[in-house]
Amino acid sequence: MSGIWVILTCHRNIHHLHNQKFTMVFCKCGRTAALRTSWTEANPEHQFYTCHSLRSKCNFFVWVDPPMCHRACVVIKELMDTKALLKNEVSFLREEVRIYKLQEAEFEEFHSSVVRKRERWLIISWIFFMLFVLLFFIISM
Ligand SMILES: [Zn+2]
Repeated sequence: MSGIWVILTCHRNIHHLHNQKFTMVFCKCGRTAALRTSWTEANPEHQFYTCHSLRSKCNFFVWVDPPMCHRACVVIKELMDTKALLKNEVSFLREEVRIYKLQEAEFEEFHSSVVRKRERWLIISWIFFMLFVLLFFIISM
């Protein structure tokens, strides 16, 4: 079996866990701990192990990632804000593209109806022209 099985029970500040090869981390309940990610401003994108059960009283908690300096927290916060802005912009642009596609489809339909009308009028005008020529020949005879 590869990796090391580790039983963590009460160490709240063990860092650099991700640098070691773990296959499982157990909480005080004896169950495998849940790997979660913090998205708080103080610990953005910071992984930690905690008890799977929210109702459990074992209060198992241990950071996986090492602590970050203040500058890293600020930069990650800015990146997350930028990501949120870009996500909004992408959804706005997708909506605009959807609207433009609808308008394009309406324009294509309008254009093809105009083309059909022109063709119809061209045929009708040719028929009238031929009738006029025929009538001219009949009258001239
Ligand atoms: Zn537990």
